[in-house]
Amino acid sequence: MTQYPNLLAPLDLGHSTLKNRVLMGSMHTGLEETKDWNRVAEFYAARARGGVGLMVTGGMAPNREGGVFPGAAGLFSDEDIANHKIVTDRVHEADGKIAMQILHAGRYAYGPECVAPSSIKSPISPFPPKELDEEGIEKQIADIVTAAERAREAGYDGVEIMGSEGYFINQFLVQHTNKREDRWGGSYENRMRLPIEIVRRTREAVGQDFIIIYRLSMIDLVPNGSTFDEVIQLAKEIEKAGATIINTGIGWHEARIPTIATSVPRAAFTWVTKKLMGHVSIPVITSNRINTPEVGEEVLAEGCADMVSMARPFLADAEFVKKAIEGRAETIAPCIACNQACLDHTFSGKISSCLVNPRACFETELVIEPAQATKTVAVVGAGPAGLSTAITAAQRGHKVTLFDRDTQIGGQLNMAKQVPGKEEFFGLVDWFEVMVKEAGVTLKLGLEVTAEDLTGFDEVVIATGVVPRDPEISGQDGNNVLSYIDVLRHKKPVGKRVVVVGAGGIGFDVAEFLVHEGESPTENLEEWKEEWGVGDPAKTPGGLAPEGPQPDAPARQVTLLQRKAERPGKRLGKTTGWIHRAALKMKGVEMIGGVNYESIDNAGLMVSTGETRENPRTIEADTVVLCAGQLSDRSLADALEEKGVACHVIGGADVAAELDAKRAIDQGTRLAAKL
Ligand code: NAP
Ligand code: SF4
Repeated sequence: MTQYPNLLAPLDLGHSTLKNRVLMGSMHTGLEETKDWNRVAEFYAARARGGVGLMVTGGMAPNREGGVFPGAAGLFSDEDIANHKIVTDRVHEADGKIAMQILHAGRYAYGPECVAPSSIKSPISPFPPKELDEEGIEKQIADIVTAAERAREAGYDGVEIMGSEGYFINQFLVQHTNKREDRWGGSYENRMRLPIEIVRRTREAVGQDFIIIYRLSMIDLVPNGSTFDEVIQLAKEIEKAGATIINTGIGWHEARIPTIATSVPRAAFTWVTKKLMGHVSIPVITSNRINTPEVGEEVLAEGCADMVSMARPFLADAEFVKKAIEGRAETIAPCIACNQACLDHTFSGKISSCLVNPRACFETELVIEPAQATKTVAVVGAGPAGLSTAITAAQRGHKVTLFDRDTQIGGQLNMAKQVPGKEEFFGLVDWFEVMVKEAGVTLKLGLEVTAEDLTGFDEVVIATGVVPRDPEISGQDGNNVLSYIDVLRHKKPVGKRVVVVGAGGIGFDVAEFLVHEGESPTENLEEWKEEWGVGDPAKTPGGLAPEGPQPDAPARQVTLLQRKAERPGKRLGKTTGWIHRAALKMKGVEMIGGVNYESIDNAGLMVSTGETRENPRTIEADTVVLCAGQLSDRSLADALEEKGVACHVIGGADVAAELDAKRAIDQGTRLAAKL
């Protein structure tokens, strides 16, 4: 008897049956643009072998003007169709099902040819769109229908028509972006004509035995978004027009409320989908921040939807469903919703991967094979770099011993997990613990190893991490001064007025830790909704709370400082930096750049500005916390070198600048693949 009876139940779609209720949601990985079709096929086939019920590809442009950026992938020629057939064949050989997403970006397109219902520039693209005339609208519909026909020809089991997230179709639905006065604008009947026509004509073109998923924005999270009555009306019309499944979209891309980041509570928006249940008779999919089989099962058992969509969790672990079926959920690599290797890559023009699983999208390049000869391997340091090396090397058949002077594994992850909004790191450390055991790594904790202890191994890997950088501020030895380690690891008492020196990733984390007390809003959905101003779309169009964000009062008065004159937090993650900055702003944290640190005394920290150190002033504080960056801890590596023992140095011990778990895990895994 499975623990997940709802999640693993088949879903009968009439002409075909899905083997379970798990959808791998659409993700733009950048793989299709590589034109390495073997690589694309292997990415999807690995997930098909992993047992997922249905997959949706990244968004494919129906035409040049609708591409998210110039050169975005689409099915434009017979050659494109033949290439996509390589993918669908490989998926079908693996007994999987795959639908192609058709994504018309409208005014979100990052290109001068973009088109929209009205010529209103979006806040996230510099290009004002051209307003379409009647003929232009007919062309867009025809192109979307043609894309669906081509998808069918290419062997896809269906298409997903992207009608949410503020893209083209969504732009017709709300008056915020649709100011037309013809039959495509004005009344809601007119504004929803476009999606209905698209679905109706697509169904006519592709026949009955082809899946059409319509992704419908159920809570726009922008001012003057759709009302929930409109959402229900649209869903009913979309069903009538011939859709097979309705998928949930949450929030436009320009919304200023986080919808998928790690600080968003798990399954934070399934209550929105639940409001639609019973209004349509076709299956409904819910999504956003569902990342374990337990959460998926709970959501379905509560009647929030007929199926769940998870996207990033399939980057973290291609075998998510298979492991759930086998009752091995604790071995599923957890998606911690950090965006660091997936969305941040997409928005930097890089191919997506996964912080937890560097093989994601690199399946054909980073191959983990059994070792030709078994070696003894010592790994020193049980942080993310050392853990990934040890686990991968042991999985390949090596005899691995992992040392750490701490009595627990995880290294800096154990500090990250203390930060409100970063609770997913608990699951990551737990997963590492399971995998260390499963791989058969010998763990030696609470042991300070010396160079002498490491002489008998075939391979030695040094992953000893980092030490805090000393900012050398006069008076920093006072007992009102702490390091981030004192605060996050040793939980030393911190006063009510705090100055944080250094506004990097750790400075922001420490500030977040210090302004909160009690339960983290990430663990309490109602509190989180209040904090960010998420309301009920049945009461306010778009679902923004009329009273706006209502964060709790900050637990402390925090000032965050840096020497660089740029905006603090500018270098944080591309897709999450704004959330960290907004969260601290809501808590009244003052962020100041361009200061010199003069001295610390009992009154606080004296700073000045400019090269000539003008305007000295004291920022009053009970506690000063130093977060001035980190330096490599190479002491053991240097001692080994002196003894002439060869070693591999990885992670923070190798390069401390811009160290993060993504680089550490990637470097550790790649090294272990070659040992
Ligand atoms: P960091 O991001 O490099 O920031 C170091 C901070 O210290 C900067 O604000 C820097 O600004 C300041 N600083 C540097 N030298 C200094 C000196 N001599 N005296 C005083 N201040 C000095 O490093 P981190 O905060 O230690 O974080 C370490 C790594 O972990 C980073 O790569 C970070 O991205 C990563 N991390 C990421 C997250 C995340 O949310 N993604 C969270 C935690 C950590 P000025 O030089 O302008 O003063
Ligand atoms: Fe999830 Fe982070 Fe991996 Fe993206 S990079 S899939 S958010 S764990």
